[in-house]
Amino acid sequence: MYGVIEGTGFEVIAPAFADCFVGHARVERLWTGARWSEGPVWHAAGRYLLWSDIPNNRILRWDDSDGHVSTFRQPSQNANGQTVDRQGRLITCEHLTRRVTRTEFDGSITVIADRFQGKRLNSPNDVVVKSDGSIWFTDPSYGILMDYEGERAVPEQDGCHVYRVAADGTMTQVTQDYLKPNGLAFSPDESLLYIADTGVTHHNDGPQHIRRHTVNADGTLSGGEVLATCTEGLFDGFRVDTAGRIWSSAADGVHCLSPEGELIGKVHIPEIVGNLCFGGAKLNRLFICGTTSLYAVYLNVNGISPV
Ligand code: MG
Repeated sequence: MYGVIEGTGFEVIAPAFADCFVGHARVERLWTGARWSEGPVWHAAGRYLLWSDIPNNRILRWDDSDGHVSTFRQPSQNANGQTVDRQGRLITCEHLTRRVTRTEFDGSITVIADRFQGKRLNSPNDVVVKSDGSIWFTDPSYGILMDYEGERAVPEQDGCHVYRVAADGTMTQVTQDYLKPNGLAFSPDESLLYIADTGVTHHNDGPQHIRRHTVNADGTLSGGEVLATCTEGLFDGFRVDTAGRIWSSAADGVHCLSPEGELIGKVHIPEIVGNLCFGGAKLNRLFICGTTSLYAVYLNVNGISPV
Protein backbone atom coordinates (compact mmCIF):
# COMPACT_ATOMS: atom_id res chain seq x y z
CA MET A 1 0.00 0.00 0.00
CA TYR A 2 2.01 2.94 -1.29
CA GLY A 3 1.14 6.38 -2.54
CA VAL A 4 -1.71 8.68 -1.58
CA ILE A 5 -4.61 6.87 0.07
CA GLU A 6 -7.68 7.80 -1.94
CA GLY A 7 -9.94 10.30 -0.20
CA THR A 8 -7.47 11.06 2.58
CA GLY A 9 -4.44 13.26 3.00
CA PHE A 10 -2.20 10.34 3.91
CA GLU A 11 0.65 9.32 1.63
CA VAL A 12 2.61 6.16 2.36
CA ILE A 13 6.22 6.41 1.17
CA ALA A 14 7.72 3.56 3.23
CA PRO A 15 5.90 0.61 4.84
CA ALA A 16 6.67 1.87 8.36
CA PHE A 17 4.17 4.71 7.84
CA ALA A 18 1.22 2.36 7.40
CA ASP A 19 1.01 1.85 11.17
CA CYS A 20 1.09 5.55 11.91
CA PHE A 21 -2.38 6.60 10.78
CA VAL A 22 -5.99 5.49 10.87
CA GLY A 23 -7.26 4.82 7.37
CA HIS A 24 -10.67 6.35 7.87
CA ALA A 25 -9.48 9.36 9.89
CA ARG A 26 -9.67 12.62 8.00
CA VAL A 27 -7.87 15.94 8.10
CA GLU A 28 -10.24 18.58 9.46
CA ARG A 29 -9.95 22.31 9.01
CA LEU A 30 -10.92 23.61 12.44
CA TRP A 31 -10.70 27.32 11.72
CA THR A 32 -9.48 29.81 9.15
CA GLY A 33 -8.84 33.55 9.14
CA ALA A 34 -5.21 33.96 10.17
CA ARG A 35 -2.37 35.45 8.10
CA TRP A 36 0.52 33.24 9.18
CA SER A 37 -0.17 30.52 11.71
CA GLU A 38 2.65 29.32 13.95
CA GLY A 39 3.52 28.33 17.49
CA PRO A 40 0.88 25.75 18.42
CA VAL A 41 0.89 24.43 21.98
CA TRP A 42 -1.52 22.09 23.73
CA HIS A 43 -2.70 22.87 27.27
CA ALA A 44 -3.70 19.54 28.76
CA ALA A 45 -5.32 20.90 31.93
CA GLY A 46 -7.41 23.47 30.09
CA ARG A 47 -8.15 21.26 27.08
CA TYR A 48 -7.31 24.04 24.65
CA LEU A 49 -4.80 24.74 21.95
CA LEU A 50 -3.03 28.07 21.60
CA TRP A 51 -1.39 29.19 18.42
CA SER A 52 0.19 32.37 17.04
CA ASP A 53 -1.09 34.49 14.18
CA ILE A 54 2.17 36.40 13.85
CA PRO A 55 1.30 39.25 11.41
CA ASN A 56 -2.00 39.90 13.20
CA ASN A 57 -0.12 40.26 16.48
CA ARG A 58 -2.32 37.81 18.36
CA ILE A 59 -2.40 34.42 20.02
CA LEU A 60 -5.57 32.45 19.32
CA ARG A 61 -7.21 29.72 21.39
CA TRP A 62 -9.15 26.72 20.09
CA ASP A 63 -11.30 25.17 22.83
CA ASP A 64 -11.63 21.39 22.81
CA SER A 65 -14.89 21.53 24.78
CA ASP A 66 -16.97 23.08 21.99
CA GLY A 67 -14.56 23.94 19.19
CA HIS A 68 -14.86 27.70 19.42
CA VAL A 69 -11.93 29.99 18.72
CA SER A 70 -11.22 33.15 20.66
CA THR A 71 -8.37 35.61 21.13
CA PHE A 72 -6.07 34.58 23.96
CA ARG A 73 -3.66 37.55 23.81
CA GLN A 74 -3.55 40.68 21.68
CA PRO A 75 -1.17 42.33 21.22
CA SER A 76 1.05 39.29 21.42
CA GLN A 77 4.30 41.11 20.56
CA ASN A 78 4.17 39.17 17.27
CA ALA A 79 4.52 35.94 19.22
CA ASN A 80 5.84 32.92 17.33
CA GLY A 81 6.85 29.52 18.79
CA GLN A 82 5.44 28.32 22.08
CA THR A 83 5.60 25.42 24.48
CA VAL A 84 4.72 24.62 28.08
CA ASP A 85 7.22 23.87 30.82
CA ARG A 86 7.04 20.94 33.23
CA GLN A 87 4.67 22.91 35.47
CA GLY A 88 2.35 23.65 32.54
CA ARG A 89 3.30 27.31 32.26
CA LEU A 90 3.25 28.89 28.82
CA ILE A 91 6.63 29.74 27.29
CA THR A 92 6.48 32.12 24.32
CA CYS A 93 8.90 33.48 21.72
CA GLU A 94 8.15 37.11 20.87
CA HIS A 95 9.44 38.75 17.69
CA LEU A 96 8.54 42.37 18.43
CA THR A 97 10.08 42.49 21.89
CA ARG A 98 12.85 40.08 20.83
CA ARG A 99 12.52 37.92 23.91
CA VAL A 100 11.35 34.64 25.41
CA THR A 101 8.77 34.91 28.16
CA ARG A 102 6.93 32.76 30.67
CA THR A 103 3.31 33.37 31.59
CA GLU A 104 3.00 32.71 35.32
CA PHE A 105 0.05 31.12 37.07
CA ASP A 106 -1.28 34.55 38.05
CA GLY A 107 -1.07 35.77 34.43
CA SER A 108 1.97 37.98 34.88
CA ILE A 109 4.78 37.71 32.36
CA THR A 110 8.38 36.96 33.26
CA VAL A 111 11.22 37.59 30.80
CA ILE A 112 13.34 34.45 30.40
CA ALA A 113 15.81 35.91 27.87
CA ASP A 114 16.10 39.10 25.83
CA ARG A 115 19.86 39.64 25.57
CA PHE A 116 23.04 37.67 25.28
CA GLN A 117 26.31 39.22 26.43
CA GLY A 118 24.55 42.57 26.69
CA LYS A 119 23.24 42.64 23.13
CA ARG A 120 19.62 42.20 22.13
CA LEU A 121 18.53 38.91 20.64
CA ASN A 122 17.36 38.83 17.01
CA SER A 123 13.82 37.44 17.24
CA PRO A 124 13.33 34.16 19.11
CA ASN A 125 11.45 31.72 16.91
CA ASP A 126 10.81 28.39 18.60
CA VAL A 127 11.35 26.92 22.03
CA VAL A 128 11.44 23.64 23.91
CA VAL A 129 11.83 22.77 27.60
CA LYS A 130 13.92 19.87 28.87
CA SER A 131 12.96 17.82 31.93
CA ASP A 132 15.70 19.51 34.00
CA GLY A 133 13.84 22.80 33.54
CA SER A 134 16.27 24.26 31.01
CA ILE A 135 14.72 26.28 28.18
CA TRP A 136 16.22 25.95 24.69
CA PHE A 137 15.32 28.34 21.87
CA THR A 138 16.36 29.37 18.39
CA ASP A 139 17.08 32.98 17.42
CA PRO A 140 16.98 33.57 13.65
CA SER A 141 16.43 37.09 12.31
CA TYR A 142 13.03 36.74 10.62
CA GLY A 143 11.35 39.12 13.04
CA ILE A 144 13.81 41.95 12.40
CA LEU A 145 14.30 41.52 8.65
CA MET A 146 10.95 43.13 7.88
CA ASP A 147 7.97 44.76 9.54
CA TYR A 148 5.45 42.07 8.63
CA GLU A 149 6.21 39.68 11.49
CA GLY A 150 7.91 42.09 13.87
CA GLU A 151 9.90 45.27 13.38
CA ARG A 152 12.84 45.88 11.09
CA ALA A 153 16.08 46.41 13.01
CA VAL A 154 19.82 46.05 12.67
CA PRO A 155 20.95 42.80 14.32
CA GLU A 156 23.07 43.18 17.42
CA GLN A 157 24.20 39.57 17.57
CA ASP A 158 26.96 38.32 15.25
CA GLY A 159 24.69 35.66 13.76
CA CYS A 160 21.71 33.45 14.36
CA HIS A 161 22.26 30.98 17.16
CA VAL A 162 20.56 28.56 19.53
CA TYR A 163 20.52 29.30 23.25
CA ARG A 164 19.98 27.42 26.48
CA VAL A 165 18.72 29.00 29.68
CA ALA A 166 19.43 26.70 32.61
CA ALA A 167 16.98 26.33 35.48
CA ASP A 168 19.13 28.75 37.49
CA GLY A 169 18.89 31.37 34.71
CA THR A 170 22.40 30.93 33.29
CA MET A 171 22.29 31.51 29.53
CA THR A 172 24.68 29.90 27.07
CA GLN A 173 25.02 29.83 23.29
CA VAL A 174 24.90 26.19 22.18
CA THR A 175 25.39 26.53 18.40
CA GLN A 176 27.47 28.86 16.23
CA ASP A 177 27.12 27.27 12.77
CA TYR A 178 23.49 27.77 11.79
CA LEU A 179 22.24 30.32 9.26
CA LYS A 180 18.59 30.42 10.36
CA PRO A 181 17.95 28.00 13.24
CA ASN A 182 14.23 27.43 13.47
CA GLY A 183 12.20 24.51 14.90
CA LEU A 184 13.74 22.27 17.56
CA ALA A 185 12.74 19.21 19.57
CA PHE A 186 14.30 16.57 21.81
CA SER A 187 14.21 12.84 21.20
CA PRO A 188 11.97 10.95 23.67
CA ASP A 189 14.86 10.23 26.08
CA GLU A 190 16.32 13.73 25.55
CA SER A 191 19.68 12.31 24.50
CA LEU A 192 19.33 14.03 21.13
CA LEU A 193 18.29 17.53 20.08
CA TYR A 194 17.02 18.08 16.55
CA ILE A 195 17.27 21.59 15.10
CA ALA A 196 15.98 22.82 11.74
CA ASP A 197 17.96 25.31 9.63
CA THR A 198 15.86 27.31 7.16
CA GLY A 199 18.79 29.33 5.82
CA VAL A 200 17.72 28.75 2.22
CA THR A 201 15.17 31.55 2.68
CA HIS A 202 17.97 34.10 2.50
CA HIS A 203 20.99 32.25 1.13
CA ASN A 204 21.31 30.63 -2.29
CA ASP A 205 21.74 26.89 -1.84
CA GLY A 206 21.38 27.46 1.89
CA PRO A 207 20.23 24.77 4.29
CA GLN A 208 16.69 23.40 4.35
CA HIS A 209 17.34 20.54 6.70
CA ILE A 210 17.15 19.15 10.22
CA ARG A 211 20.37 18.38 12.08
CA ARG A 212 20.86 15.96 14.95
CA HIS A 213 22.94 16.81 18.00
CA THR A 214 23.95 14.79 21.03
CA VAL A 215 22.97 16.50 24.27
CA ASN A 216 25.81 16.39 26.78
CA ALA A 217 25.35 16.26 30.55
CA ASP A 218 26.83 19.75 30.95
CA GLY A 219 24.22 21.30 28.66
CA THR A 220 26.44 21.55 25.59
CA LEU A 221 25.83 19.92 22.22
CA SER A 222 28.05 17.76 20.06
CA GLY A 223 27.61 16.12 16.69
CA GLY A 224 25.24 18.04 14.48
CA GLU A 225 25.13 15.98 11.30
CA VAL A 226 22.37 16.57 8.77
CA LEU A 227 19.56 14.13 9.49
CA ALA A 228 17.18 14.97 6.64
CA THR A 229 16.79 17.55 3.89
CA CYS A 230 13.31 18.81 3.09
CA THR A 231 12.03 17.76 -0.33
CA GLU A 232 9.15 20.28 -0.44
CA GLY A 233 9.86 23.72 0.95
CA LEU A 234 11.17 23.95 4.49
CA PHE A 235 11.26 22.07 7.74
CA ASP A 236 10.10 24.85 10.06
CA GLY A 237 8.46 23.68 13.30
CA PHE A 238 8.28 20.00 14.19
CA ARG A 239 7.52 17.56 17.02
CA VAL A 240 8.64 14.04 17.99
CA ASP A 241 6.37 11.11 18.86
CA THR A 242 6.96 8.45 21.53
CA ALA A 243 8.68 6.18 19.00
CA GLY A 244 11.13 8.91 18.03
CA ARG A 245 9.60 9.73 14.65
CA ILE A 246 9.78 13.37 13.60
CA TRP A 247 6.59 15.04 12.35
CA SER A 248 7.61 18.19 10.53
CA SER A 249 6.07 21.09 8.71
CA ALA A 250 6.72 21.36 4.95
CA ALA A 251 5.31 23.16 1.94
CA ASP A 252 2.89 20.39 0.97
CA GLY A 253 1.80 19.40 4.46
CA VAL A 254 3.35 17.31 7.21
CA HIS A 255 6.36 15.06 6.58
CA CYS A 256 6.95 12.07 8.83
CA LEU A 257 10.58 11.05 9.24
CA SER A 258 11.84 7.87 10.84
CA PRO A 259 14.30 8.32 13.74
CA GLU A 260 17.02 7.72 11.12
CA GLY A 261 15.75 10.62 9.03
CA GLU A 262 14.03 8.66 6.27
CA LEU A 263 10.89 10.27 4.82
CA ILE A 264 8.31 7.53 5.41
CA GLY A 265 5.04 9.35 4.84
CA LYS A 266 3.11 12.57 4.53
CA VAL A 267 -0.13 14.16 5.60
CA HIS A 268 -1.08 16.46 2.74
CA ILE A 269 -2.48 19.85 3.70
CA PRO A 270 -3.80 22.39 1.16
CA GLU A 271 -1.71 25.25 2.59
CA ILE A 272 1.95 25.68 3.51
CA VAL A 273 2.53 24.31 7.01
CA GLY A 274 4.66 26.33 9.43
CA ASN A 275 4.37 24.30 12.60
CA LEU A 276 2.41 21.60 14.42
CA CYS A 277 1.99 19.89 17.78
CA PHE A 278 0.34 16.89 19.35
CA GLY A 279 -2.71 17.41 21.53
CA GLY A 280 -5.88 15.92 22.91
CA ALA A 281 -6.14 13.86 26.10
CA LYS A 282 -4.07 11.05 24.59
CA LEU A 283 -1.73 13.25 22.53
CA ASN A 284 -2.83 11.30 19.46
CA ARG A 285 -4.21 14.27 17.57
CA LEU A 286 -1.90 16.37 15.44
CA PHE A 287 -2.75 20.08 15.32
CA ILE A 288 -1.34 21.70 12.21
CA CYS A 289 -0.75 25.40 11.53
CA GLY A 290 -1.30 25.86 7.78
CA THR A 291 -0.79 29.50 6.80
CA THR A 292 -4.33 30.92 7.25
CA SER A 293 -5.90 27.91 8.96
CA LEU A 294 -5.76 25.48 11.85
CA TYR A 295 -6.06 21.82 10.86
CA ALA A 296 -6.17 18.64 12.92
CA VAL A 297 -6.01 14.92 12.30
CA TYR A 298 -6.10 11.89 14.59
CA LEU A 299 -3.12 9.56 14.19
CA ASN A 300 -2.16 6.12 15.42
CA VAL A 301 0.84 7.57 17.29
CA ASN A 302 1.24 9.64 20.44
CA GLY A 303 3.26 12.75 20.99
CA ILE A 304 5.71 13.07 23.86
CA SER A 305 4.77 15.22 26.82
CA PRO A 306 5.10 18.09 27.44
CA VAL A 307 4.24 19.09 23.92
MG1 MG B 1 9.49 28.58 13.19
